[in-house]
Amino acid sequence: MAEQDLYKVLGVAKDASQDEIKKAYRKLSKKYHPDLNHEPGAEDKFKAVNEAYETLGDSQKRAQYDQFGSTGGQQGFGGGAGGFGGQDFGGFGGFGGGGGGFEDIFSSFFGGAGGGRRQPNPTAPQQGRDLQYEMSLKFEDAIFGKKTNITYNREEQCETCGGSGAKPGTSPVTCSKCHGSGYIQVQTNTPLGRMMSQQVCDVCHGSGKEIKDKCATCGGSGHTEQSHSIKVTVPAGVEEGQQMRLQNQGEAGANGGPYGDLFIIFRVEPSDEFERDGATIYFKLPIDFVQAALGDEVRVKTVHGDVKMKIPAGTQTGTTFRLRGKGAPRLRGNGTGDEQVTVAIQTPTKLNKGQKEALKTFAKASGKTVAGNGKSSLFDKLRGV
Ligand code: ZN
Ligand code: ZN
Repeated sequence: MAEQDLYKVLGVAKDASQDEIKKAYRKLSKKYHPDLNHEPGAEDKFKAVNEAYETLGDSQKRAQYDQFGSTGGQQGFGGGAGGFGGQDFGGFGGFGGGGGGFEDIFSSFFGGAGGGRRQPNPTAPQQGRDLQYEMSLKFEDAIFGKKTNITYNREEQCETCGGSGAKPGTSPVTCSKCHGSGYIQVQTNTPLGRMMSQQVCDVCHGSGKEIKDKCATCGGSGHTEQSHSIKVTVPAGVEEGQQMRLQNQGEAGANGGPYGDLFIIFRVEPSDEFERDGATIYFKLPIDFVQAALGDEVRVKTVHGDVKMKIPAGTQTGTTFRLRGKGAPRLRGNGTGDEQVTVAIQTPTKLNKGQKEALKTFAKASGKTVAGNGKSSLFDKLRGV
């Protein structure tokens, strides 16, 4: 189809209002309507008027047209059903074979937006659906990563027919009803008389292909549900809720399109001993007050194994010490985080006679007298401690 100036087709100025465009369209579509006008060429003009209105009558499409110029035939909008967005009359779209480059250009410029009005070309290859898989990880596995196998069900391309849906030795043929466009024109009655509108072909369901002899394995769909296993390498340092995308591990595409992707969502089990925030691991270390007062060297748990740590004399409860490089690896970037060790000084709850004497001596040496009543131990007895 030759490129036409859509404004000229409707006989309106480039700055015409939407109302003027609508009026021009009504006038012309009535004038050239095939049921009313039997002159040669009238039907072609009717189609051209409808196509022009499909673009200019929609302010969004009109803006796109103004920006990108002639559309080279209008097929690209693939609009048809619903393409008028609530206008009075059903509209044509996609004459001469649905779908062309224009839609694709728009998709790439506008991120495929279009409020669901524009139908994608049903015969074009489509990528399969993406799938999600939740993977539970032990606390340590999230830190160090692991290799594992996962198995899930997905739609795969049928091996018997190679995805065509046709019995081996046969191939799908061009749909006899829609001649491959995937759409059919249907007549509807409107106040202007019968109008044509476009619907997805009921024989091929929009694929444009008809399968005479269906593949026995997939029943003509070209897909079969299969159990699918893959090896997954969990990267060291992943965290709760993070996702990893595995390309082409989703479901099979349509019309020879690629597989979708698999998104693995990590669910990390909490640890009894550690807490983690990113690359930093937190650990609480109970020490007794003598260690805190005199200083000591203690063994501290880390995810990398026990390490020795010095407690300086006079350490207060709540003091945090940093063990460099004993945290989790940083997912993006180099190195490993730290472990933050917070000490909690334990006050002894039960003292034997010797310990009591020693503490009284300690108090005396400090120049203090401590009554040391037995209330707490009696209270503990009452509580059953
Ligand atoms: Zn069809
Ligand atoms: Zn098959």
